[in-house]
Amino acid sequence: MDSSFSNSAIALAYFVIPLALVPLLTKVSREIRLNLLLAFAFVLSCGIGHTLAAVGWHITWWHWVTAVVSWAATGVLLKSQHHLRYLGEYFQLLEATWEQSITGKSLWELVGNDLRLLKINPAGLAISRHQLQPGDFLCQKMPFHRQVVYPYDEPLIDLYLQALSTGESRRLEFRYDDDVVSGWYLALVTPLSPNRLFITSSEISGILHDPLTGLYNRRIFQVLDQDWEACLFLDLDRFKLINDQRGHHLGDLVLKAVAGVLQDYAHQHHGIAVRDGGDEFILLLPPATAANSEEVATDLLQAVSAIDVQGIQVGVSIGIARGEIQAFENESRFNQLCQAAETALREAKQKRIGTRICIWDNLLAQRQLRQSQIEAHLQQLSTRDEFRLVYQPICEINSGRVIGAEALIRWRSPALGSISPNEFIPIAETTGLIYSVSDWVIRHALEQFTQWHRLNPELTLSINISPLELDDEDCIERIVNPVLATGIPSHLLGIEVTERGIYRNFDFCLKNLRILQAVSLRLKVDDFGTGQSGLEQLLQFQFDEVKVDRAFIPNTQGDMEKMAICQAVAKLSEGLGFDLVAEGIETLQQRNMMQAMNYHYGQGYWYARPMEVEAFTALLQQPYPLGQSTLLDEDSDLAGRPS
Ligand code: C2E
Ligand code: MG
Ligand code: MG
Repeated sequence: MDSSFSNSAIALAYFVIPLALVPLLTKVSREIRLNLLLAFAFVLSCGIGHTLAAVGWHITWWHWVTAVVSWAATGVLLKSQHHLRYLGEYFQLLEATWEQSITGKSLWELVGNDLRLLKINPAGLAISRHQLQPGDFLCQKMPFHRQVVYPYDEPLIDLYLQALSTGESRRLEFRYDDDVVSGWYLALVTPLSPNRLFITSSEISGILHDPLTGLYNRRIFQVLDQDWEACLFLDLDRFKLINDQRGHHLGDLVLKAVAGVLQDYAHQHHGIAVRDGGDEFILLLPPATAANSEEVATDLLQAVSAIDVQGIQVGVSIGIARGEIQAFENESRFNQLCQAAETALREAKQKRIGTRICIWDNLLAQRQLRQSQIEAHLQQLSTRDEFRLVYQPICEINSGRVIGAEALIRWRSPALGSISPNEFIPIAETTGLIYSVSDWVIRHALEQFTQWHRLNPELTLSINISPLELDDEDCIERIVNPVLATGIPSHLLGIEVTERGIYRNFDFCLKNLRILQAVSLRLKVDDFGTGQSGLEQLLQFQFDEVKVDRAFIPNTQGDMEKMAICQAVAKLSEGLGFDLVAEGIETLQQRNMMQAMNYHYGQGYWYARPMEVEAFTALLQQPYPLGQSTLLDEDSDLAGRPS
């Protein structure tokens, strides 16, 4: 054969080989790329040598060029061999993580419209309950991959094949409900080439389930994309008492029993049951059964009430929301549904009579709207200019003498009108704005008190603070520092904390209350009787004063229950040495009954309504006993009340 022809053929081969391998350069790591480039250079130099030979140039020195390039390539290869060894270790490491990983890993090949298993690690085998072996076809061995798997609308195999055809990785979270495999799974599907798929899979049932009750936990909401039509929000009544008084073990049994009932209802009505944390549960119903949500709630209420765990019965309150809700800004449809149900639940909890079920309706929607408006206004700093304080006298019951004042906040908003603290303080509490509101109250009340202290050095002042503030680290600084700065003896200042909510973070509150007491501030438990607290706990707080809520002040001698409660508290006060204040005395008869029961102090409309600063100052300058003029006039309850 002609040597020029054979040289040309060899040269072509030398050129074609590196050119065919050029795409490889983009895929390999940096270390390998360098070696490849040198190898290419060597092959190309051979190619050039043979091309020159083909055209009749037999250049001997070109062999030297080729030899030098090949030696350089060998030198670099030897130099970089530790990198190559490292690559070997890297592969070993991959192999080890493949074997020992607790995540299932598998490599698949596309065959027709099924996937054939090439390789699977032990964790993958375990997750498949050993149904799969290399060589198996996925849908043949596990036919449910051809079915629509919750929460997707397409069969799983189609989702896998889509990943292959688009070349994009996917994260899939789904539920299998098979005889052999059941639970929630997370799969990361990574296409390696148009027909190779790498899948890692793990069972995440434990992550989405509440370990105590086995119901779903709140994380399930992140993976649900089905349209839920109704939400029932449940909260057990007085569960905290069961836990505190009968122990956590029994509390757990109660929760499990309730969860069992809820799970049954979820199955019956094609919904899902979720434990939202603590003693709160959620039942979601799909459009098919949502129309029955009220009946479901009534049945649930009865079923839960019938639970008996070692003699303990539980009650439950339920809030229901259904359909499209547009009351909470910037929230998804699903979140709006749940929040509406939760709002209805809070409403149901407040019901003192009738069934403890409440349905989200127009009225609640309007209230929600108002709450959002109040919240928005409270957030504006300029709102502080719309606040003012009024002061209600606290009197000695025997003499009618004014001994103190309680500062009460008032808010008149040009946009919303007058808003009662009963309405905006709870909103300030839930939004965390209470701290700035309270700082405003403390500052202004203390300024006023400094002036009154000069007129009457014995006058006391009470300031209301939210129990939430006691939970806070900064509480002491925020309250004590301004008080000390006034220079007024701190025992003249009282801090009123409403009984409701004080027990949420018992130990922390206790610590902070002790510190307040250590600087001689008077601690007063406000609205006593409304918080369903145990006396034992109350005693630990060592309050200086208890203000019995006006709901417990009897109207007549015939109010036996209220009389008994007031007498019991009076007895306790004698034994333990705290002062007693009767709140909300509206009639002379009430005042007389409280006096007869040894109550020291009284506050209420019969003495005086909360008044503006000027009126209170006038009262201090011309002190007269409040309500005195009517003391003898038993018939005329409202006469003599200062206007
Ligand atoms: P509270 O601390 O128990 O205050 C007593 C409430 O009862 C006041 O309502 C007062 O006007 C009202 N009241 C007094 N005597 C009578 C009476 O004889 N009959 C009736 N029906 N009511 C009477 P107000 O001012 O609307 O305050 C409501 C609640 O708002 C307060 O209850 C307190 O818990 C809270 N609050 C008021 N001001 C502040 C504040 O500056 N900070 C905080 N954190 N809460 C405040
Ligand atoms: Mg108060
Ligand atoms: Mg009160």
